[in-house]
Formats: sequence, C-alpha cells, structure tokens
Amino acid sequence: MARYVFITGGVVSSLGKGLASAALGALLQARGYSVRLRKLDPYLNVDPGTMSPFEHGEVFVTDDGAETDLDLGHYERFTGVAARQSDSISSGRVYSTVLEKERRGDYLGKTIQVIPHVTNEIKDFLAIGDDEVDFMLCEIGGTVGDIEGLPFFEAIRQFSQDRPRGECIFMHLTLLPFIKASGELKTKPTQHSVKELRSIGIAPDVLVCRSEMPIPEKERAKLALFCNVRPDSVIAAQDLASIYDAPLAYHNEGMDQAVLDAFGIKPAPKPKLDVWEDVSDRIHHPEGVVNVAIVGKYTQLEDAYKSIAEALTHGGMFNRVKVKAEWIDAEIFEKDDSDVAAYLEPFDAIIVPGGFGERGTEGKMKAAQFARERKVPYLGICLGMQMAVIEAARNLAHIKDAGSEEFDHEAGQKRFTPVVYHLKEWMEGNRTVQRAVSDDKGGTMRLGAYNATLKEGSRVAKIYGTTSISERHRHRYEVDTKYRDQLEKCGLIFSGMSPDGRLPEIVEFKDHPWYIGVQFHPELKSKPFEPHPLFRDFVRAALEQSRLV
Ligand code: GLN
Repeated sequence: MARYVFITGGVVSSLGKGLASAALGALLQARGYSVRLRKLDPYLNVDPGTMSPFEHGEVFVTDDGAETDLDLGHYERFTGVAARQSDSISSGRVYSTVLEKERRGDYLGKTIQVIPHVTNEIKDFLAIGDDEVDFMLCEIGGTVGDIEGLPFFEAIRQFSQDRPRGECIFMHLTLLPFIKASGELKTKPTQHSVKELRSIGIAPDVLVCRSEMPIPEKERAKLALFCNVRPDSVIAAQDLASIYDAPLAYHNEGMDQAVLDAFGIKPAPKPKLDVWEDVSDRIHHPEGVVNVAIVGKYTQLEDAYKSIAEALTHGGMFNRVKVKAEWIDAEIFEKDDSDVAAYLEPFDAIIVPGGFGERGTEGKMKAAQFARERKVPYLGICLGMQMAVIEAARNLAHIKDAGSEEFDHEAGQKRFTPVVYHLKEWMEGNRTVQRAVSDDKGGTMRLGAYNATLKEGSRVAKIYGTTSISERHRHRYEVDTKYRDQLEKCGLIFSGMSPDGRLPEIVEFKDHPWYIGVQFHPELKSKPFEPHPLFRDFVRAALEQSRLV
C-alpha cells in the first residue's frame, strides 16, 4: 500500500505548492520509488473546465479526458507520470456525487452530513490506486483556514488515522516575509498557520518555507521550536531562476531526506539526479535566443497558456537556446491602422494557441496570414489550426464568408460558411459519442487522448518519426473535410486524420519552411527531459529563421 504525503499551504496562496509537490515527486522517483500526484481543490465547480482561463489559468487535460487544474501539468512535467481523472477532485465533484447518491437512496434514509458522508467520499477518492505506487502525494488547494477547505483537511486527518501508524505524513508550505526595516525574515505568520493546522488535528512533519533568502539558523531553530518540527525538517524554498531548478534546490535543502526520515525509512536509497542536472544545465547555459510571438486572447495572465510556455522552454532546452515568448493580444491586429507586419517582423516564429469565442479571431487570422505569406514558422494549436484553415479558405481558396460555426452560435445568427463546424458525432474507440449544440457546457467537448494517422512523407510524420500518434484534445468544433480538396489544391495538406479518416487532426503547408496546425494540444505532453517533437522542431525552425534575418 502507498505511503501518503499530504501537502498543505498556509499564510498566502500562490506559494508554489504544486511545484513543491511535483519536485518532491521527482526527488522520490530519483531515489527509485514510484509516485502518483493528486490534487484536491476546495472550490465548488465540478471541475475547472467551465472556468475562464482568467480565473483559474489553463485547463490541463488528461489522457482519460479529465479537465483539471494546471498543477496536474506540473506533476506530469516533473514526474512523467500521466495524470488520470482520479487524480483531481473538487468540492463541487464531491458534493455532486454525494447528492446523486442521496437521490438514488444509497444512504438508506440517513441524514447526510459533511462528516462522515462528504469526508468519506474524499477518503474513498484518496484511496483509489493506493496499491499501484510507493508514494501518493496529495496536494490540498487553497490555504489552511479557508472555509471551503475544511472538509478536505478533516478528511486527510481521518485518513491518516485510518491507515497504519507512520504511513501518512504532512508537509506544510508557508511564507517567511522579509521585513526590510528590521532586515529580518519573519516566522510569526508561519507559526500562526501551523497553529491553525494543529487546531484541526494536523501536525506537520515537514515545513517548507518560501523565502527570498536562506533561513538563518536562529529563525530555523525558532520555527522548529514553535511549530514542533525537527530543525532539519525546516526546508528553505528560496526563489529560483527556473522552476526546473526546484528538484535540485529542494534536494540540497534536504526535502526528500526529511520526508523519508518522517516515514522512518532507513537507510534512504541514494538519489540519481543526473536527469535534473542535465535539465538545469540546459536551462542555464543556452547558446542562443529565439523570439516567439504568441498571438492569443488570454494574454494578461500567463498561466492561461502555462503548458505552451513550458513546452517552448523544453523545445529551447533541446536546441540549447533560450526561447523568449511574447504574448500579444490578437485584438490589436484588428484595428484599422494596425501594421501587422511591423509588429510581427521582429519574431522568429509565431504561435496561435487554443481559445474559445470569436473575440480576437480576425486578428489571429492576420497573424496566420502573415506567417504563411512571409514564410515565418507557424504553429497553430486547436483554435490556432482552425484559424489557419479559415484564413486559407478565405484568402487562397476564396470560399466566401469562410468562418467557424462557433462564432455563429455565440452571436446567435448565421454569418459564416462553416469551414469549421460543430462536431456532433465521433468515435471513441469502438463507441460512437454524440453531442447536440444545446448540451451542457461542462465536460461535453471531445476530450482526452485520441489517435491520429499521419500521412507518409509529410513534415509531421518526419517530425514524429512515426505515422501513428496519440495526442490530447479539448474542442467542440472541427474542420470540415468537405473543403479538403479545395484547400489541398491551394497547398494546405491534411497530413493527419483520425484513424477513421473523418476528422482532420493536422494541416501543413507544402511550400513553407514550417507551417503546421494541430487540432490537439501537444504542449500538454511535453516534459523538460522529453521535449515534445513538435516543439523541438518548431524551436529548431525558429532558430533557422533567426539566422536568416
Ligand atoms: N473553440 C474551439 C473549439 O471548441 C477551439 C478549442 C481550443 O482551442 N481548445 O473547437
């Protein structure tokens, strides 16, 4: 049975709990253990799928089609373990399951209460797959003391009691603010946060303290004394130049050792950290730089495209260059006096990422057109592929009013020739999935891993080194094959299709150095130690482009 590490946070949010959990996962793997990471989110949405990227950042999609928190992206990028539906839960999902059971009569007339019914549901979730790995790392979203978080804290407390002694530990992440006037790191907020945690029956075994500087011995001793942890279990998590330094930095601070000590594992297996040494080396010693424009809608919040930013970094690491990504709001290209060329000329490559809704799409198409005409490397992801196809349909194939049904549906009127149409039926393995326009918004897209067959001799087949791939999807609309011949005559090749040949998965321009649109999200599967082939080659093409000018 797995040992459990529960990771909680205090003092303030956004301390990087997800990253700390992911780095701990990587360190336990480096010591030869198998791990799985899990996220418990206190909000009442059933999943983040319906939340705006402005609210919650990117929605991370798993192979099995779950729409999850972006922390699951960190988990995968650091451990390489593919997350599953069962690795992400929210209060919303817990309550909806409990209420469904209540309506079905499963509780046999009992009064339904937070304890035990809600907490039991959470505990059942925690236990899923506990015979598959050595360590299960469970991160609780939010900070201790939040009202919505209480059932989760109560559940992990009970869970640690239900399990044999010594099989569960608690790691608490806090902040040590630096007060300039006194020149000190302050421990009081951490003391209060641990007090709060202990008042609900949880005593942390390991304290991870975010701070701008090393923790002086005096403060470390104070934290240990007042928070009732061992001095060597107070781990300083200083600000890092790159998130990929976290495994080595936290290892040097003794995080993995402290965790193994807390479980009483002796002697601790020696870690093999060469992968992370190589990753850090590549990040810190680039031999060049490429500039990539990301033309999208959710540009104020970088977290909205987290995985794309990370996948670009990975592609850069592979090519030993630094990728400087600039986020450009597509709407600025829609102004009458905007000079798209002047704006985009300084860049070595362009990405139009995924997105929803019509706003900014005319601007995105201008970026796609610029990349096509000026032979600048272009990667269109999901909506970015649809933009590339509509741009070609309008400007090369001269299909009048080419557009996407998505925009007509949003506007409630018919204005476009649907080159991109609403997908109502597709195959999932041997099963036919059906959808209607009026379906709920939550969880009804074509979600998760689907296979695609690549055309022999195409650019993508060369990049992948195979003609059969599996990638993750999250879309509701699809390029219509009705226009395939017309578009291919103009040079836009349909180089990847669903295995049944019905759904376009990849398009590419024949006479262009690098112009690829993909209906899926390759960024979700990229890892620092295993950069995604498309991002590897895209950055290589950007590098080539940078040498041209
Ligand atoms: N809005 C488009 C669709 O639903 C694209 C989705 C996306 O980019 N993830 O098909």
